[in-house]
Amino acid sequence: MKEIILIKNGELVLKGLNRNTFEDILIKNMKKALREIGEFTFTKSQSTIIVEAVSEEIDLDEAVDALSKVFGIAALSRAAACEKDMDKIKEMAQSYLADELSFAKTFKVEAKRSDKKFPLKSPEIQRELGGYILSKNHHLKVDVHNPELCVTVEVRDNYAFIRGNNIKGAGGMPVSTSGRAAVLISGGIDSPVAAYMMAKRGIELVAVHFASPPYTSDLAEQKVMELLHRVAKYSGPITTYVVPFTELQEAIRDNCAEEFFTIIMRRYMMKISEKLAEYQNCSALITGESVGQVASQTIYALGCTDAAVNMPVFRPCIGMDKEEIIAISRKIDTFETSIQPYEDCCTVFTPRHPKTRAKLPDVIEAESAIENGDEMIKKAVENAKRLVIK
Ligand code: ATP
Ligand code: MG
Repeated sequence: MKEIILIKNGELVLKGLNRNTFEDILIKNMKKALREIGEFTFTKSQSTIIVEAVSEEIDLDEAVDALSKVFGIAALSRAAACEKDMDKIKEMAQSYLADELSFAKTFKVEAKRSDKKFPLKSPEIQRELGGYILSKNHHLKVDVHNPELCVTVEVRDNYAFIRGNNIKGAGGMPVSTSGRAAVLISGGIDSPVAAYMMAKRGIELVAVHFASPPYTSDLAEQKVMELLHRVAKYSGPITTYVVPFTELQEAIRDNCAEEFFTIIMRRYMMKISEKLAEYQNCSALITGESVGQVASQTIYALGCTDAAVNMPVFRPCIGMDKEEIIAISRKIDTFETSIQPYEDCCTVFTPRHPKTRAKLPDVIEAESAIENGDEMIKKAVENAKRLVIK
């Protein structure tokens, strides 16, 4: 039996004239996601993409799992490719979906006939196949509104495809249809979630991580790489910079008023990230900040941080509670890694009494105590370590 994977496009169907380009990008992303599983062919056909393994040895379960993380896919399912003959379709539906049919209590048949030469119309296919399935599975009842199992037959050019229930896709837009942005990634819970959420809107990610050895350890850095590896299952490969940040942090500690440490550090992070982002052709920065979560995330502090850069700053977690952010981090499987206890550079030199109602002129005044700030930014950018996380 020939088995394939049917992909239903998501939002990109709305893209009208650009649809072809969007589908091509989606296919490119699917290829990347399947690269380690095997070779596949991709055929576009009316808001569906048919994915076929080149060899029978390839594990389709693994392929479906990888594809369920690719943005731009609304739904997907494995399907049996059957000769376009009503008797063969009946037998195939019964044998291919035997398990699903025996577990379900209710079902319905949905037929889509895009090959208008097929002798039976869709309602006729539904009636015939529905009757046949009932005759073979006496426990089943038809429920057209809310069936446990929907048996779908799609009669297309070369085959009739038979499938059971769809699996929900990752939704969103194919990565790299919305441009590029650089995410400031820490080892925490929020920034991997923020990265995932923007990738879901079709943004290709570049990552920037600040490390402050010896205050932060190699293990902390490895943890961030592990988080990016998990995000990359959705976003595709992520060009990543690890920026040496110790010198700047020590300069802040030694020269600036303590109540402004965190805000000034944040502003330097933004400035350095903006430089790397420009170099990587990014048009925005992304952070995991959320209003009110900590002193550096009051609206006043966020305003001071924004003022350090010209690029727009996207903060997809901005209005979310920790609980909501955690729910997403569990879903994308970053939570368990995020909660491993390693020091982040943000927790080094935290002020005892941070300024929550920081005013920009005061922050700039405090910041001016560092004389060679621009040089240190330049040095940090030059010494950033670049790697690609898959
Ligand atoms: P997270 O869970 O993402 O670490 P958080 O609630 O712990 O967030 P902070 O530590 O204040 O908040 O950091 C706020 C944001 O600043 C992070 O979401 C991230 O975008 C950025 N950030 C913090 N630390 C770093 C770092 N070491 N490297 C890069 N970006 C960082
Ligand atoms: Mg943090």
